[in-house]
Amino acid sequence: MQLPALLEPAQMLSLMRYIQEARHIIICAHRFPDGDALGSSLGLADYLRTLKKDVQVVMPNCFADFLRWMPGIKNVLIYDERPVEAAALIHKADLVFMLDFSDLGRLQGMAEAFKGVKAKKVMLDHHLDPDKTIADLLVSVPEACSTSEIVFRVIAELGGYDSLSRSGAACLYTGMMTDTGGFTYASTRPEIYQIICELLRKGIDKDRIYRNVFHNYSTHRLQFVGYVLSQKTQFYQHNRAAVMTITREEMKRFKYLRGDAEGLVNMPLQVKGLRVVISLREDTDKEVVRVSLRSVDDFPCNEMAAQFFNGGGHRNASGGELPFPLEEAVRTAEKAIEHFKDLL
Ligand code: 5GP
Ligand code: MN
Repeated sequence: MQLPALLEPAQMLSLMRYIQEARHIIICAHRFPDGDALGSSLGLADYLRTLKKDVQVVMPNCFADFLRWMPGIKNVLIYDERPVEAAALIHKADLVFMLDFSDLGRLQGMAEAFKGVKAKKVMLDHHLDPDKTIADLLVSVPEACSTSEIVFRVIAELGGYDSLSRSGAACLYTGMMTDTGGFTYASTRPEIYQIICELLRKGIDKDRIYRNVFHNYSTHRLQFVGYVLSQKTQFYQHNRAAVMTITREEMKRFKYLRGDAEGLVNMPLQVKGLRVVISLREDTDKEVVRVSLRSVDDFPCNEMAAQFFNGGGHRNASGGELPFPLEEAVRTAEKAIEHFKDLL
């Protein structure tokens, strides 16, 4: 069975023309690039290079340590580390792909570099309510499990499946796997497994990819998880909601590496009946508290993020930021739980 087409005929023609006419292509994704931001970017880069294009992947800032093994990641340019070089490349490009975000705020400092660029912009994304004014071509598929899924389907629709390499396939699989927590949420659509079949045919080792991503931590991280779950997690509303807090001092104590909190916010959902988790973590760079929310079923944590945490996201995975100390952030989280208690 064939997958239904994502691109309308006019979009397909525009995209083919943009790619054909482009010599220098930039691919970028959101700040704190995750497995999907990197996976979709590296997968698309792999395909575009088979068309003999000059392709540079640029990320706004550094990625988590556990993604360092990904094929092609060594050539990713980090804007925060080399802003002048990155801005020059962005200005030289005649085509820019923007992946896994749909609001320029998620680029933070790098958004500056896009002011006045002459390149055509193509945005491929799966977040809700995209800003439709940014790109010349917007492919917004909120039901997709990941941007990597969208990239796979776009490559296939352009007739590029055969030229996609095993490395490119591994990157796309990584994005699909990480954005679904190893296919445990946002992952019931049958199309996902049709795509996985096609990626497996490229010879990827999915079990190894799982271990590379999810079994790649230090002993400190394991102890950090135990500590946060046992000492720093509070339950509310008859165990229907949980709040976890992490301070900078604790991160230091447990030799925290970027990415060590990944997955931690999902763990309280293992409690029977628990519907929403709010994680509050002191930012390592700025005087703000980073907020992550996860929920199950129809609990809209994106609405909670928008109303209480200056953020947004997907229904079951959202984030935001609070510009005040952790103790106050806890009070905000408690208010948010109280406000949403009828939905718990
Ligand atoms: P995480 O908890 O992994 O940082 O973020 C989960 C999801 O929430 C992201 O995929 C993204 O869609 C959304 N998100 C995270 N931080 C923000 C934010 O500050 N603003 C908005 N609008 N969405 C965010
Ligand atoms: Mn994503």
